[in-house]
This record gives sequence, structure tokens and C-alpha cells, in this order.
Amino acid sequence: MFVDEVRILVRGGNGGNGMVAFQREKYLPRGGPSGGDGGNGGSVFLFADPQRTTLADFRHKRRFKAGDGEHGQSDNCHGKSADDVVIPVPCGTLVYADDKLIADLSQPGARLLVARGGRGGLGNQHYATASRQAPKFAQRGEPGEEAALRLELKLLADAGIVGAPNAGKSTLLSAVSSARPKIADYPFTTLEPQLGVVQIDVDVHFVLVDLPGLVAGASQGTGLGDKFLRHVERTNVLVHLIDGGVEPADALQQMQTIEQELALWSAALLRKPRLLAVSKQDLPAAHAVLAAVRETAAQPVFGISAATGQGVKALMSAAYEAIVAARPLQVDATAADPSRLSIEVDSAAGKVTLRPKPAEPASAVSVAKEGKGYRVSSPKLELLAKMTDLQSPDGREYFKRVLLRSGAWRKLKKLGARTGDKVRVGPAELLL
Ligand code: GDP
Ligand code: MG
Repeated sequence: MFVDEVRILVRGGNGGNGMVAFQREKYLPRGGPSGGDGGNGGSVFLFADPQRTTLADFRHKRRFKAGDGEHGQSDNCHGKSADDVVIPVPCGTLVYADDKLIADLSQPGARLLVARGGRGGLGNQHYATASRQAPKFAQRGEPGEEAALRLELKLLADAGIVGAPNAGKSTLLSAVSSARPKIADYPFTTLEPQLGVVQIDVDVHFVLVDLPGLVAGASQGTGLGDKFLRHVERTNVLVHLIDGGVEPADALQQMQTIEQELALWSAALLRKPRLLAVSKQDLPAAHAVLAAVRETAAQPVFGISAATGQGVKALMSAAYEAIVAARPLQVDATAADPSRLSIEVDSAAGKVTLRPKPAEPASAVSVAKEGKGYRVSSPKLELLAKMTDLQSPDGREYFKRVLLRSGAWRKLKKLGARTGDKVRVGPAELLL
């Protein structure tokens, strides 16, 4: 199996902090709180782009970070939210976090949220109550998520060359491919498919793979296995290259064998658009082969010579047209629904946790004794603890109020907690 592989780091932007500010106007000596909210940090998405065929672009850029939300300002000015970062990847890209497969982006247009941006913190105006009209604290922005991902792409080829041994497949591939994506080494028994990028025009290219070993018996798995089949199956178009360097009768015989092999591999293969070409047209004897094939085939047959380049361009253009016709339509990156999968990376512990992303943090609360104090477990309260400025007395008081209202107080009392006892929520610690 050949694999194009790359490791990337993605990071959502931090939410901007909420602002602490008060209205200051000439005739309003004690203006109300007017701190604006922080903007949201941008999120990072992967996007299955049918126009991409390799992961080669990632060789130069491996870190992707969405922008931070701006901090809130005075005068109720909210900070601007940052834009999302959408990273296009080829269709068929497998996404791994911590060696666990988290998504297969084979569906064109599929979007995967890989690092959510933090929400902006609320400004102090949100914390004004009848009894506390001038709150001197605001909410901090939520930190953006971070993830280390491995992207893996299995056979991305748009077109595959099939044909008998010696037909000239390898020669054709090296004649047409201007660049070869670096691919991970893989001991593919004795046969290693080769990939090449065929440049049709500026910015127009496709990936061609030389599929060796499609010979009699191959479909029974002599040294190839079904992994090979999967590669062939992912190509959109096949180019069947017929050896022009043998007697016409032998060429027809070989051609039939290959067609039978394709049928044995799978019916899906037979349904793929298939171009026919006869190689080695620089050899005079090869003209007779071309004529013989044209007589039997019900479709146009290309005569080519990889040695002189004759007919090669026409064949590649036809292959490209067939690929485009077989390719799914391009999908708008912004239209698809973002997937709701959350990846939590604990870099200290080297651990990655995956879970469906709830729209809002779950509000379930549980309490337990911990040392001389207590611990309150609740995703919602833990997040709030991270986002609240607990250094500020106002912030602490606010947090305590929410904590007690959450039902935690009732549960704590049941456990025997009293005013003045220590309570931990996430990383935060406070006295009841
Ligand atoms: P494969 O087994 O299908 O990959 O075939 P190769 O590309 O290895 O070619 C088999 C033989 O045919 C080699 O000796 C090549 O030099 C020769 N060959 C391939 N293409 C051409 C061509 O266009 N003209 C001529 N004269 N020989 C060719
Ligand atoms: Mg070869």
C-alpha cells in the first residue's frame, strides 16, 4: 500500500476577554457597567476538496492556527470574532489523533471540526444585579482547542495504468509525470505501484498510478492481496495499455487476459471508464498491433510512443476529461454542515480524548469528598471556573453564586459541607 502521510498541528483561536468598564459621562457620575464581550476565537476545520489529490502542500506548512477573538472594549463595544480556518485536504484523507482513526473524509465537501475556537468572555455589564450594580470583573475568553493530527491518504490516483508486463506502463508514467509526490515507503511485496502527477496545464493536473502486476492469477491474490484492489478501486479512470512490441495476435490475447482480470477483481472495476492505447508506435511493427486492436475494440484506440512522445498528450488529455467527468462536482466549503466532534488533547499526559461535541456544556453536577474539602464535578461549572476571573472578589462571589444555584449546594450539604469548607471545581479552589 502506498501512503501519503503528514502530521499537522491545529489550534483554535482563544476567545477574547470580556471587558470591565463603566460609563463615564459628564452628567452621569456613577455610570453603569459598560464592558463589552470578547469575540469568539476562530475554529479550524478540515475540508474534503475534490480538486486536491495529494498531501504535498502540507510538506511546507504543518501548523494551522485560527485567530484569537478580540477583547471586549469599553462603551459596550464587543470584540470582533476571528475567522475560521478551513484546510482543504484530498477526498479520502483519513484523520488520526493519537493513532486512533477519527474520521474518513471521503465524502466530497465533508467538513470536520478539528479544533474549536474558544468563546469570547462576557463583559462586566452581564454581571450587574440589583445588589451589585458595579461588578468589577468580566469573563475571560475560553481557550481554543488544540490537536495533533496525522493525515493519511491512501491511493489518491485519479487514473491507473493497467496492462500486461512489458507493455510500457512504467515508461509511460515517467514520460508524463513532471513531479512525483513523496510517498511513504511500504514494502508492497515485490511490486510497488508508482504515482506521478500529470500536468495538463497550469494548475490543471491529475494523479496517475502505474498498477503493475495485473496479470493472470493476480486476482486470486498471488502476492497482492485485496489492498491492491482497493487502490485500483479508488481510481476514477483506467488506461489500458496494450503492448505494441509483440505480435498482433499476442497483443489481443494479452488484452483479453487483462480485461478478464479486471472482471475477476470486481465488477466495479469493469464499470470504470477505460481508455485503450497501444504502446511503442515508434516501432513500425507496432502499427499492425494498433490496427488489430482498433478492429476489435468498440471504442477509440490511442496509438502512443512514450519514447518519442507521439500521441501521449492526446491520451493524457482524454484521460483528464474522463476523470473530470467521473469526478464529483465541486462543493462549496462553507455550505457543508460542520461535524460535531471534539478532540481534547492533554499534551502533558500525552492523551487525546474524543467525544461528540455538546452544543452547551452539560449541566449535570456531582459532588464528592476530596481530602478535607469537596470536589464538584460538572462540565459546565468547570468551564465556567476556567473562564471566570477568580482573582477578583467580584468574580469569586459571582462564581460562588452560580455554583450554589446549580444544585451543588444541596448535594454538598447532604455530604456534610459547611460554610467555610474548601471546594474544588476543575482547577479552581474556593471557600464556601
Ligand atoms: P511495464 O512492464 O509495462 O512497466 O513496461 P516498461 O515500461 O518497463 O517497458 C517494457 C519495455 O518496453 C522496456 O524495455 C522499455 O524500454 C520498452 N518501451 C516502453 N515504452 C516504449 C516505447 O514507447 N517505445 C519503445 N520502442 N520501447 C518502449
Ligand atoms: Mg513496470
